[in-house]
Amino acid sequence: MNTIRDILNWAAEYLKSHNIPSARLDSEVLFSFILNKDHTYLYTNFEKPILPEEHKKFKELIERRGKREPVSYITGEKEFWSLKFKVTKDTLIPRPETEILVQAVLDIIISKKLEVFNLQSSIFNPIHILDIGTGSGNIAVSIAKESPESNVFTVDKSDSALSVAKENAIIHNVAGRITFLKGDLYIPFNPPSPPFVKEGKEGLFDIIVSNPPYIPTGDIEGLMPEVREWEPKRALDGGKDGLEIIRKIIKDAPLFLKPAPAGLKQGSGGFLALEIGFGQGEEVSHIISGTDKFHNIKTIKDLSGIERVVTAWKR
Ligand code: GLN
Repeated sequence: MNTIRDILNWAAEYLKSHNIPSARLDSEVLFSFILNKDHTYLYTNFEKPILPEEHKKFKELIERRGKREPVSYITGEKEFWSLKFKVTKDTLIPRPETEILVQAVLDIIISKKLEVFNLQSSIFNPIHILDIGTGSGNIAVSIAKESPESNVFTVDKSDSALSVAKENAIIHNVAGRITFLKGDLYIPFNPPSPPFVKEGKEGLFDIIVSNPPYIPTGDIEGLMPEVREWEPKRALDGGKDGLEIIRKIIKDAPLFLKPAPAGLKQGSGGFLALEIGFGQGEEVSHIISGTDKFHNIKTIKDLSGIERVVTAWKR
């Protein structure tokens, strides 16, 4: 009879022979998924025999992984911001780097709260946030979860992605503060009209955040098969130079972002936070400053020292 040790050894060998980079780890993750136990359970139960139905199911999953299907699509979940997110082939798999984008937004929410506090305002102002291209809803849900004052609008052009995002919002108890809208970029707000844009074309949003597709079309072929063959192209492909969608987001952002209230210091208006790809920091900062509508443009590096996020304040 097969034990957990035997089956894991078989799976790791099988995946290695199919050139899967993290063969052993993936085998363990998939087997603990089948058992619905955490990872450490495996280590303390190596000699335990496995049931025939566990064996059969595991073989199926390992064969899928052998075809380079990402582990997260097989298990249907991915951890992000210490929360478990449902993912499907219609959504990008959330990446740890994107947590930097969430952190940048949360830092601003805190500073906006302090500002209101300093003004001794007794009015409770919800902070309106727009998340463009929400995918699994990882950004919107994480922000809503951390900040009870946030009122998040998400847009995505894929119905299937939006329904995954809604499910994630329900799972994490924030569905009441997230509005899901279908369309490309700002299309759900087009023509800009109340309540999203006030008279005088002053935007409603305090913050616009997006992890847009930013990979140059020509680079997609060179990506790992897990990404190239399995993740949705529309979530990856940023056009010829990778910046086509970023340019569109930046172009219309000033229309939808709040201006700094009269009398308040600079840095009190709307805030834009975008995730960017390798080597795009300088060019994206340049595009933002070229609009003449933003100031205080900054880039934030990820743990590998790569510029990963660009932020700017509306003038
Ligand atoms: N917002 C989602 C994420 O960060 C999806 C982004 C996208 O599809 N480009 O994972």
